[in-house]
Amino acid sequence: MRVAKDQIVAMIKEMAASVAENKVFLTELDSAIGDGDHGINMDRGFRKVMEKLPAVVDKDIGSIFKNVGMSLISAVGGAAGPLYGTYFIEFGKVADGKEQLTNGDFKEMLRAGLEGIKRRGKAVVGEKTMVDALEPATEAFARAAAEDKDPLACFQIAVDAAKKGKEATIPMLAKKGRAHYLGERSIGHQDPGATSSELILRSMLNILQS
Ligand code: ADP
Ligand code: MG
Repeated sequence: MRVAKDQIVAMIKEMAASVAENKVFLTELDSAIGDGDHGINMDRGFRKVMEKLPAVVDKDIGSIFKNVGMSLISAVGGAAGPLYGTYFIEFGKVADGKEQLTNGDFKEMLRAGLEGIKRRGKAVVGEKTMVDALEPATEAFARAAAEDKDPLACFQIAVDAAKKGKEATIPMLAKKGRAHYLGERSIGHQDPGATSSELILRSMLNILQS
């Protein structure tokens, strides 16, 4: 099964809508262990994505994702902007020149995106960041794809893993980002970036389900 470009564009729109809908929630999470701007940052970024999207929808999927990444980098000042920017630029490299995506493409995109974030942010699993949602999701997707499950089933399994990974950040002690300045006081709060990561992956799933 292949996923066509119009569905990819719909996924990006769904991400923007989901971030807008959860703007206050993400900001509340960041108020507890950061500086209270994650929802504002992400919403500003995805508004820029939506503003720039019409100019690239006729291009290949790689160009579309690279544009998403560049919009996020240009519009988001916080840590998450460059990290998610890298994520989508890495998606774009894998999807370069493509008009549709296979399961294998998604598997590679998720892997390349995660590696880009880890390269840039130097975080590993267990440090209370977006990596705690993205890494288990990426691994779950790869395992499901190896069993020849279709993209919908793979994304379902990946989003479940992201949700569990996000929930697992609650008892963690933050080791990266602003939250690590809080030390022990970061314990007991869900990481905002792990939360937005689940939203992004869930948006992709929602479109495959629709
Ligand atoms: P800022 O911390 O600059 O205010 P945001 O509030 O937008 O930026 O984003 C905070 C989120 O960014 C955190 O919840 C965390 O998930 C993520 N984050 C911060 N630093 C890193 C890092 N080095 N690696 C991965 N993710 C990080
Ligand atoms: Mg913040």
